[in-house]
Amino acid sequence: MTPRCYTAVEFPGGNMLAESHFYFHKAADVLGLPDKARTILLTPLRTVKVGIAIEGEDGELQSYEGYRVQHNSARGPMKGGLRFHPSMDEEHAAALANLMTWKAAVVDVPFGGAKGGINCDPHALSERDLFQITVRFVEQMKEVIGPTSDIPAPDVNTNAMVMGWIMHEYSKYAGFSPGVVTGKPLDLFGSEGREAATGRGVMDVLAEALAEQSKSFGDITVAVQGFGNVGSNAARLIAERGAKIVAVADHTGGVCAEAGLDIPALVAWVAEQGGVKGFSLGEAFDSSEIITWDADVLVPAALEDAIHKDNVADVKARIIVEGANGPTTPEASEILNDRGILIIPDILANAGGVTVSYFEWAQNIQQFRWDEERVNQELDKKMKLAYHSVKEVANEYEIDMRTAAFVLAIRRVVKAALSRVHLK
Ligand code: GLU
Repeated sequence: MTPRCYTAVEFPGGNMLAESHFYFHKAADVLGLPDKARTILLTPLRTVKVGIAIEGEDGELQSYEGYRVQHNSARGPMKGGLRFHPSMDEEHAAALANLMTWKAAVVDVPFGGAKGGINCDPHALSERDLFQITVRFVEQMKEVIGPTSDIPAPDVNTNAMVMGWIMHEYSKYAGFSPGVVTGKPLDLFGSEGREAATGRGVMDVLAEALAEQSKSFGDITVAVQGFGNVGSNAARLIAERGAKIVAVADHTGGVCAEAGLDIPALVAWVAEQGGVKGFSLGEAFDSSEIITWDADVLVPAALEDAIHKDNVADVKARIIVEGANGPTTPEASEILNDRGILIIPDILANAGGVTVSYFEWAQNIQQFRWDEERVNQELDKKMKLAYHSVKEVANEYEIDMRTAAFVLAIRRVVKAALSRVHLK
């Protein structure tokens, strides 16, 4: 079954694909985009589902489903992460793939959008079993991925190690191909700065928003939901700029400190313990309270639908920087807009990852390496430019930043698509 194309539904809840289509339609309305064009732009180019069966370390048979949805390639090879999570399915991959198309266009990197993953729970698997599962996935997907067609990257529960496995497996069929995945280990031609790139991009766009309000990092308190790659790097970099990270929560619990948490110490703790729970240099709290924490800025950097109709009224932050993909439901998003709370949307705020993925891919195909300073400088430049390009559109149409980001992205994708064909 091909993931369906939702029409302009009112406030869809609990269905990420419909939610992402809702945001698309809102922007398409601003552009006066005809229905036909909408259907074309929302229909994925290709949806692949594969079965993965392995004999686990314990001798038991394990079976999973793997997905890759390739959404749109008008602006280049399709690009997007691989997520290992029990909730991964076709619609989920389709929603995230669709967001990748717009995200790559917002930061103007020459990629289309894709996303995929496996419906496994890596926390319950041995590293050996995870390796086997990844190898099977590549065996089944090798015909549809490639450095000029579709380039996976890390996402929730995947990392540089998994990317290294993918590169190795794919290279068995295609010859040595570092450009088939990004977010690889540095020893396998990954890029300096890629690991922290999404968090750095979060910091960059927040810096622009603060400057617009004549504030600096030293003036603000921040609450962060999620302490994986995005949340931990964002927290570290924002704290380095002088802000107080007053609360952090992840799947294990929450920790807070009014004077600001010692983020390097928390990073070290999480590396050892697997979560923030038990961190002694802060007070524990129930992680569900993080969204409504009394802080100036909220960074939701975990999973989708974290801010929804039941907690949105109690949100206290004045700026929300969406480190995760789809952390705010459309209904909550509208309420926050009405309350004058600035949302820096996912397809802008967390685009630092795909931006440095582009730098990594460009380095790989040129067989050349950039140093970290250059990567960071180029990333900062791209994020700043994207922020102001979105802002300009927001001012032009008097719309919120999310709708503006979609408008900017749709315009770019449509122009690219139209330039490829003879129209008369
Ligand atoms: N998974 C990341 C995202 O959602 C990175 C994608 C990439 O680098 O291709 O943006």
